[in-house]
Amino acid sequence: MGSPASIDTSGLRNLTDPALEQIVAKLEAGERLDRVDGLAILNSQDLIGVGRLANAVKEMRSGPYAFFVLNRQINPTNICVISCKFCDFAAKAGDDDAYEMTMGEILEKVREPIHEVHLVGGLHPTWPFEYYEEMLRAIRRANPTVQIKAFTAVEIEFFSKLAKISIEDVLNRLVAAGLDTMPGGGAEVFSDRVHDALYREKMGAEQWLEIHRIAHSKGIPTNATLLYGHIETHEERVEHLMLLRDLQDETGGFLSFIPLEFQLGYTNLVARQASALDGLKTIAASRLLLDNFPHIKAYWVMLGEETASMALQWGADDLDGTIGEEKIARAALASSPLGLTAHNMLKLMREAGRVPVQRDARYRALTLFPPPPSPTHWSQRGARDVTAMIPSKIDPMIADTGAVSLENEELYSWDLAGISPDQLAERGTLARGDALAAYDATGASLPTVPPAIAESEASR
Ligand code: SF4
Repeated sequence: MGSPASIDTSGLRNLTDPALEQIVAKLEAGERLDRVDGLAILNSQDLIGVGRLANAVKEMRSGPYAFFVLNRQINPTNICVISCKFCDFAAKAGDDDAYEMTMGEILEKVREPIHEVHLVGGLHPTWPFEYYEEMLRAIRRANPTVQIKAFTAVEIEFFSKLAKISIEDVLNRLVAAGLDTMPGGGAEVFSDRVHDALYREKMGAEQWLEIHRIAHSKGIPTNATLLYGHIETHEERVEHLMLLRDLQDETGGFLSFIPLEFQLGYTNLVARQASALDGLKTIAASRLLLDNFPHIKAYWVMLGEETASMALQWGADDLDGTIGEEKIARAALASSPLGLTAHNMLKLMREAGRVPVQRDARYRALTLFPPPPSPTHWSQRGARDVTAMIPSKIDPMIADTGAVSLENEELYSWDLAGISPDQLAERGTLARGDALAAYDATGASLPTVPPAIAESEASR
């Protein structure tokens, strides 16, 4: 990954919190922030100042861009052998709300023009490891171009016990079956106190970090999360970030960090959800402390769309993806919608003053969406304007006038920081008219709507 340019601190004056002034001085001197700085950010009352600091680092790393992926999250089962106290998703076999998706139901969700399948679920007591391998192979057959981001470290450890093979062998076999990258779930909070209180049956920090270390050694990029907003302290949040930073120093294998806001659900763990202010400060602290992570993600499913959009000015540079039907946060009563259209994703990014870039699971830049011609404010557009209607089975990028394909440029997200949107647009080709293929379970391509029809649909 390319090294970032130097930080522009010229706009970081007149901060109302002296602790933030010290952080600016450290950034200017190229010094690393430490635990004290992390706490100062989380405890600061200067929310705008915190945002300006984190935004300066974000812009150094990824310029004006914000990233998203056309993806589907699939949670094949909620049946789980353990019971974490913060989890509203899991059920026991025989419970009214227990479910198991069939292979056909899983494959139905991947026959779309998407670039990433995000596969995570409960620890099922009777599904053999071979079933998960077959799941990956079947997804590959159903959509040969999609990248598969699958299985948390907790699931990987479970498979190792299930199949009585090493973590290395689990990963080797999953890669052979089609695994591309790993998500970052299951980390929760790297604190023995929280571990003992909320998820005693599940792996702790050491094992989680070790599994990601092994994955990185095999060239599998992974992601990392923090579940915040329940019983953890600010000190524990900061410690979590520092442990992740240490591992990233060692391996360089993390793509993104995703702070996950705890959803109250039915758990009665805390009286109220973390505030939007807390969410924004946590995003900012993550961007500032995790100086070796390429991306900080604002996970709109848990933050809500509006806070996630704001987070793009508080250090985040990625909104994850269109998702489809997510079930984990939904079970915990998250009020965000059941998936976003690419149209809404672009809207959230543009309202935050960002230039949207569609990426794949490994953060290769696929499509640039330059600022639209007037009217420039999205709320001024009519309901049926431009991308309001997106035919299924067609990559929505074709419906956005001016979208530029970067697929042949082989640029990764971290390569874009020093390139302006205009320069980037010159390098690519107009994406309008391109369509991704969709495939059936045998790998045969399905009919898609011809681009001309899609265009007329889109402009109806
Ligand atoms: S958080 Fe994961 S491991 Fe824990 S109960 Fe829920 S599904 Fe099972």
